[in-house]
Amino acid sequence: MAADAQGSRLPDFVAWPSFPFTGELRLKPFDEPVGVEPPRRGEDPAECPSCGSTDADYLWTDDRWRVKGLPKPSGLPMVLILETRSHLDLGDLSTMHAAELGVLTVRLERAIRSLDGVGRVHVARWGDSSAHLQVWFLARPYGRLNLRGPFMTMWDDILPPVDEKKWREDLEFLAAYLNDS
Ligand SMILES: [Zn+2]
Repeated sequence: MAADAQGSRLPDFVAWPSFPFTGELRLKPFDEPVGVEPPRRGEDPAECPSCGSTDADYLWTDDRWRVKGLPKPSGLPMVLILETRSHLDLGDLSTMHAAELGVLTVRLERAIRSLDGVGRVHVARWGDSSAHLQVWFLARPYGRLNLRGPFMTMWDDILPPVDEKKWREDLEFLAAYLNDS
C-alpha cells in the first residue's frame, strides 16, 4: 500500500499498469455529504437534451431506441451511446424495453467489436449526469494492454483523437450493420 505525501493511504490501483498517472499523488479531501442531491441534466423532460434531439443527430433509430456517436473523434477508436427514444431511466424500463436493451447491448457490442483495430468493447451506465438513460459502449484499441479495465474512460480523454476518416467510415459501417441485423 503506497501513501501520499500527507501519509494518506493510496489504493493499490495507482500501481496498476492501466492507471494513467504517475508521479507524486495526493488524495483530495472528501466533500461533506449533501442532504438533497442536485437535479441531473434533463430531470425536467422539457429541458432534456436527449428529448430535444432529432433523429438526424443519431446514427441509428427505431421506434423505441436511438444510438449516437460522439460529435467528433476521441482517443478511443469508437464510443457509442444507446438511449431510449422516450424520457426513461434504467429503472423505468418496461419488461419489453428491458428485453430489447439486452438484445441491443449484445448487438452493439458485436458490431463495434467487429471493427478493425478493436480489442474489446466495454458497456457502462453511470446515470449520475443525465436523467435520460444513456448506455455507453467504449471500444479499446487492440493490443493496447495498458488501456484494459476501468481507467479506459480516462484514456479516452488523454490519447490524441483517432484518425477522423477511419472513424467516419467505421460509423457508416456501424449504421449499416444496425440497419441490416
Ligand atoms: Zn429525455
